[in-house]
Amino acid sequence: MVIEYAGTVIRSVLTDKREKYYDSKGIGCYMFRIDDFDVVDATMQGNAARFINHSCEPNCYSRVINVDGRKHIVIFALRKIYRGEELTYDYKFPIEDEDNKLHCNCGARRCRRFLN
Ligand SMILES: [Zn+2]
Repeated sequence: MVIEYAGTVIRSVLTDKREKYYDSKGIGCYMFRIDDFDVVDATMQGNAARFINHSCEPNCYSRVINVDGRKHIVIFALRKIYRGEELTYDYKFPIEDEDNKLHCNCGARRCRRFLN
């Protein structure tokens, strides 16, 4: 285990509203989708995990774990990680159509070129 993606668990339907609010205040928005129903909002109450970048060839992975009936997102190491190495995991964004593609700049040899 490397770190928990800490934040407030909110219902999925609230994400658009919160994103718009954060945008209007110039606050960078950090959210991690747990499943169809819940999202962890790390914008105001997150930790360093929210700064971990995506990579198509990552050294970590994320898992949803249950602790006393509450969902938590935890980042685990995929292999031995060396001192000074950047931590990354695969964001696994759902595939979008051409107009909504986000370019990937991870720099991995086998980069998929898009995050979604
Ligand atoms: Zn990539």
